[in-house]
Amino acid sequence: MKDDLRSPASCPVCRARFRGASQCSRCGADLIALMLLAAHAYVMRQAARQSLRQGDFQAALDSAQAAQRLHSTAKGSLLSVICSAVANPLSGQPQRPA
Ligand SMILES: [Zn+2]
Repeated sequence: MKDDLRSPASCPVCRARFRGASQCSRCGADLIALMLLAAHAYVMRQAARQSLRQGDFQAALDSAQAAQRLHSTAKGSLLSVICSAVANPLSGQPQRPA
């Protein structure tokens, strides 16, 4: 699964579209901290994928969820769902009558 290393989709101050610069082109806000958060989330998603490949599903889930808390993305959400499904394979199953 490919993951984008996109920083915030928009400036949190003025909502100008993010253009990959460390400073907002419209309002001049410093976006370095947000870029670092996005980069850290990217690394954590990579770790989640590695844990999945190694069969450590709980570690994968922990990393994927931590990444989403730092910088939520649609692909990161999908990764979290996959990790949750393999870490808790019986959750969400209907209860069988005793
Ligand atoms: Zn701005």
